[in-house]
Amino acid sequence: MSISTTLCGQARAWAAAGLVCVMAAGCATNPVTGRRQFTLVSEAQEIQMGQQAAQEVSQQLGLVDNEALQQYVQRVGAQLAAESERPHLPWTFRVVDDPTPNAFALPGGFIFMTRGMMDLMDSEAELAAVLGHEIGHVTARHSVTQISRGQLAQLGLGVGSILFPSAAQAVGGLAQQGMQLLFLSYGRDAERQADELGFRYALREGFEVREMDDVFATLLRIGEVSGRSEIPSWLASHPAEPERIAAAQARADTVTRRPLELGRETYLARIDGLVYGDDPRQGFFRDGVFLHPELRFRMNFPQGWQTQNLPQAVNALAPQKDAILQLTLAQGASGAEDAARRFLSQQGLRVGQTSRQNVNGSPAVVAYFQAQSQQGVISGMVGFIEHGGNTYQVMAYTPAQMFSRYEPAFRQVIGSFGPMNDPAVINIRPNRVDVVRTTRQMTLAEFNRQYPSVILLRDLAILNQVEDGASILPAGSWKRVVTE
Ligand SMILES: [Zn+2]
Repeated sequence: MSISTTLCGQARAWAAAGLVCVMAAGCATNPVTGRRQFTLVSEAQEIQMGQQAAQEVSQQLGLVDNEALQQYVQRVGAQLAAESERPHLPWTFRVVDDPTPNAFALPGGFIFMTRGMMDLMDSEAELAAVLGHEIGHVTARHSVTQISRGQLAQLGLGVGSILFPSAAQAVGGLAQQGMQLLFLSYGRDAERQADELGFRYALREGFEVREMDDVFATLLRIGEVSGRSEIPSWLASHPAEPERIAAAQARADTVTRRPLELGRETYLARIDGLVYGDDPRQGFFRDGVFLHPELRFRMNFPQGWQTQNLPQAVNALAPQKDAILQLTLAQGASGAEDAARRFLSQQGLRVGQTSRQNVNGSPAVVAYFQAQSQQGVISGMVGFIEHGGNTYQVMAYTPAQMFSRYEPAFRQVIGSFGPMNDPAVINIRPNRVDVVRTTRQMTLAEFNRQYPSVILLRDLAILNQVEDGASILPAGSWKRVVTE
């Protein structure tokens, strides 16, 4: 949840956006292979679909607030894409604010890198390798095939189809699960093809194509990233199969062209100061409690629930996936009563017992409601709580027959919302990447003593793509440290 984002309840459900496209099947020529290929979407539809999805991704994950960095990635990406088989697409490259190393392509030429991926790479050539690979997925239309399949699969998602108008935001959060389908593996053949295409684009632009190996190596060394993130890691959708790495090396070995562009200083200058790991300023979970240093509140979430902290909402899903909790800001409301009135006057909503309450010192309105969904009647509770000049909405719902089971948990969650004044939380700072240049030859361990990092020496070695603490860093080499 971030303070700067304006909340929009009308964010269109991703599932709804896709259905139109699934209906229109036809044949098109694959731009890369030149072969006629059965496809569900035309190019115009592909672009429109990608545009909508890109908007959703930007909104749900949030973009890194660094215009220079965004423009830089756009420039490198556009340069590569201009040489591709589909230069006319509205190529758009953005960095989303997520700590997990990943990159993904949406149909129509909308490509995203995560902050976590930017942190890990150490040259423009590595950036070009990853961007080139993702461009390859778009030019070969892998993402179109994938998105069509993904949308079809999403129709089967049980909980995702609990739809009712007032839950538009909850659906927005759940659509995240639909989006995740996009990040699943395209399949071995598609990955191999994207590797080859990316290699071709990067080489055409004169980038050092051996750098792709380093990206693989670094990702393999950090291993699978834990489930804290909203999205899976690049390795999850791009298995680093030995065969794939060997093919990349063999391709690089055939290159005789010299010199090739590495772009290390240019790249590192761009990521200097970038947040590393989770950014606690946007709220974080600690032992099941959600804490927000900027908005200064805390709220408990039930144990064992799957949670996600998105720019516009904090969502939680019961282990059995049959109950949903969502915390948002009540947009445009002047206080709890006004927010409650607006919410409860929605068509199709049956309003139950409603009461004014005092939740840990804050004026609040808590109400019970029922609504008809496609899956039957759902029952829920909603609390509107005033705090620090904002009104927060905590909504919880489940199929009607489950309500009595979940009601105590719903009540506890709403009742746990309260002010947070812990200075340690209020003043918490994210870790950042700091680029420094060695003044003399030294080992990584010596370097670590001279420029202390908040991460382990082992992780520092991975970040700087060297073996371990005993590795020698030549004088004048650009290295990264992570500082508070
Ligand atoms: Zn791929």
